[in-house]
Amino acid sequence: MHCLTQKITPMKKKVFDITGRPVKTYKLGRTCQFCGEPIADQERASKTHCTRYKDEFGIVHDCKRKKHQLKTQLQEDVLLDFSARHREYKRQIEKVIAAHGDQVTTEVLVAYNVNPGDNLSYNYHSGLLYAEMLGYRIISNPNLNTHKIEKHDNS
Ligand SMILES: [Zn+2]
Repeated sequence: MHCLTQKITPMKKKVFDITGRPVKTYKLGRTCQFCGEPIADQERASKTHCTRYKDEFGIVHDCKRKKHQLKTQLQEDVLLDFSARHREYKRQIEKVIAAHGDQVTTEVLVAYNVNPGDNLSYNYHSGLLYAEMLGYRIISNPNLNTHKIEKHDNS
């Protein structure tokens, strides 16, 4: 038989617990920037992450550090995208040279998805744009829309 007589008493707002310590409140709605756990109003104003702690398995939980690691990971992902893109440009540049030679129009570069504007570094000299790509240098003449492709000596 079920017993449904348990009384539900309305929660009374307490300021101190039985040990006399202030009870934590969460009225400010602050949360950990990494895991979203609430941060008590009583914590210092500069607190933006959970307090670092060690769980029963001895694993250290450190939200601040984890967020930093995640940031670094994101930067590394950007770097991986960047190098993948440039390896792809290199493959495409080789196709351009094989099909059209080393002096081409903008249309040809566009057709092969080679973008000298997305370079490793560049220089302007005498009205020409020198774009350093992976393995190659593309010397562009913006007036004529022509591009001369040079292979880097060291590749
Ligand atoms: Zn956290």
